[in-house]
Parts: sequence; structure tokens; C-alpha cells
Amino acid sequence: MITPPAPQGLLGMKPEEIAAVFAELGQPAFRAKQLVEWVFAKRAATFEEMTNLSKATREALATRFVTRTMTIAKVAGSSDTTRKFLLKLHDGRYVETVLIPANPALYGGSSDRRTLCVSSQVGCAYDCKFCASGLAGFARNLTAAEIVEQIVQVEAYAGERVDNLVFMGMGEPLANYSNVTKAIEILNAEWGIGIGARHMTVSTSGLAPQIKKLADFPLQIRLAISLHGATDEVREKIMPVNRKHNLGELFEALDYWNQKRKQFLTFEFILIADVNDSLQQAHALAKRARSANAKVNLIPYNTVDGLEWVRPSEAAQDAFLAVLVNAGVTATLRREKGHDIAAACGQLRLKQETELGIIESPIPAKRITIGGGAE
Ligand code: SAH
Repeated sequence: MITPPAPQGLLGMKPEEIAAVFAELGQPAFRAKQLVEWVFAKRAATFEEMTNLSKATREALATRFVTRTMTIAKVAGSSDTTRKFLLKLHDGRYVETVLIPANPALYGGSSDRRTLCVSSQVGCAYDCKFCASGLAGFARNLTAAEIVEQIVQVEAYAGERVDNLVFMGMGEPLANYSNVTKAIEILNAEWGIGIGARHMTVSTSGLAPQIKKLADFPLQIRLAISLHGATDEVREKIMPVNRKHNLGELFEALDYWNQKRKQFLTFEFILIADVNDSLQQAHALAKRARSANAKVNLIPYNTVDGLEWVRPSEAAQDAFLAVLVNAGVTATLRREKGHDIAAACGQLRLKQETELGIIESPIPAKRITIGGGAE
């Protein structure tokens, strides 16, 4: 497949970049402001709509930029359940975005917010064993425009605003640091999408150097760590990234984060039977959560085709939780009823693509499951 040149999406541009373009075109600064309004406040999907810009200006812009870079290929689910959006990118690859409605009863959380779970990369290089990404590979980073556009596409389709964002879709957000942080600035800005920084959570498999860098990022976003093992021995079995950045290094980065930030950290911990669900792990996790001042989200493992892991019994899950609670750690157990709608969406996407016969990408579709946490 020949990859066409990446179109430059206006949704990934900051006002100063747009101003520079207008200066180059010999246009007054207020015209640049008008374009910013069309792109973000008015969400213009075409240049034709931008009626207060001259035809010549619009034509000049259209030779260099695009208003949209992706299309919605498929939507699964209905307005009162989790909806999965399969998005087709300009180069024929796909990513998935998941809209989780405000319905605490369904999702077992305390969230009364509409949450969007966004992707940051096509594929993932980190090969976490429970996540089945070993079956696929890494294709490329998403651009800032492609990250912002996931929200814009979903809001336009659903006819409602998203008020909480989690970077828990496909990819490792901190491995695409500059595009993700640029997207966050645009998503947060008054002139941009206007989502509060405290309503955005970056979830990472534990890239310690980038965690430190993010600690110095000015916006007060939240940080979630995909921990999944409370000792190096257990963690490195399921997360190869732990060999590069072990728990010592990770927790040193978290100390730095805590020095700079007031918000609680979140640890995500998938419970996998006989892998990381022993009470020793629970005690070790409690100690680590206390040391990093983190709350813990326990997520019973959702089965992934091709992997043998299984979810522990409910009694084992409760016993694990009890150790944390008794140790004074704030912990929740996310036990979705039925078929784990939010978490199983990655697998659904693969099925849809196959059924539709629309896999064009040379890389195999990546199967992921997504933790639907609202915080
Ligand atoms: N790379 C980032 C973002 C991916 S989201 C990161 O590692 O944090 C990763 C989250 O998806 C996990 O922390 C977990 O909450 C969820 N997840 C992945 N595979 C899962 C599975 N098989 N069952 C349940 N949750 C899963």
C-alpha cells in the first residue's frame, strides 16, 4: 500500500500557527482569528461554510490544509450503551474511539459524565500480554489533529458533548508525547474544544522519563498508571516495558509527579487468575499505593481471543479488594455486568472489520480491550 502524504488537519493547529499561515498569505490577523472560530467554535467541516473568508483565501487554504482527516467507518452500540466508533484514517488504517454514556448503574462507576476513550497511536509497540497487542504491531503515531478529531467526529455524530476524556484506547500516549500534549492543549483551550484539564486522564504503561516530563506540563491533567503487577517479578511477566523501566524507576518518577501535582494518581490493576491475583500481590500493591498516594482501580480481566488468561472468581476479586481497603487504600472494583461492554470493544472492532471486509492495512488489526474508567 502506498501511503499518501499526511494531510494537515486544521484541528491540530494552534492559533499562532494559523496566524503564521495568514501572515504568509499576506492576510490581516483578524482573518486568522476568524478561521480559528470556524475550525473550533463552529466546527466547520468544509471550507465552503467559512463565508466571512474570501473565496481566494479559502482556496489557498484548501491547497494546504484539510478540515477533516478521517471518516466514521462503523458505529456499534446505541445511544444508551457504550458506542464504539471505528474511524478510518487518511492512509486506510483504522483506530477506535469509545463513547461511554453517563450511566453509573451500567458501568459500576461513580461517573455522571460522558466519557470518551481515545486512541493515541495506530497499534502499540509495548506488547502487554493481557492486551493481546503482541498479535499485532505498531503502525504509527496519530497526529494532534487525528487525536482532536476523534472528539469532534463523535460529538457531531452523537449530537452531544463529551465531558471527560481518557487516553485509554489504542496506543501508548506517552510514546507519542508531543502530539498527545499538543492535542491536550487544543482540547483544553477556550478557543479550542474547552474540556477541563481535570477531566482528561492520560494512561500509561509506565514510561518513567515521559512521566517526569509530563509532571512539568502546565495543564492539571490526571495520570493513570497501568500497573498490573506489584513486584518486578510479576509485572515483567505481563508487561515487557517493566524490563526497560522497572518499578524502582517508575516509582521514582511517580514521586516526582507527586511533588509537582496535587491530584491523586490512579493505579489500574487488571486481576488475572493465578498471574497477579495472590494476596501477596494485594499486600504489595497496598504498600505501593500508599507510598505513591494513589487510588486503585481493580479491573477483572476480560478474555482476549488467543490468550489463555482467565478472570479470577468473584470471591478472589473480593478478597483482593479487601486487603487494599483494610490497608486504608482507596480502591474500586470495576465489575461490569453482562458481557463487559466497555472492555470488550477492541475485539468487536476486529470482528466488524472482518465482516465488512474492510481491512486494508498491511498490519494486522490490533485487538485491544479498553478499560472504561471515567477517571
Ligand atoms: N498504553 C496505555 C493506554 C492503554 S489503556 C496504558 O497502558 O495505560 C490500558 C488499560 O486497558 C489497562 O490499564 C486496562 O485498564 C485496560 N485493559 C487492557 N487489556 C485489558 C483486558 N484484557 N481486560 C481488562 N482491561 C484491560
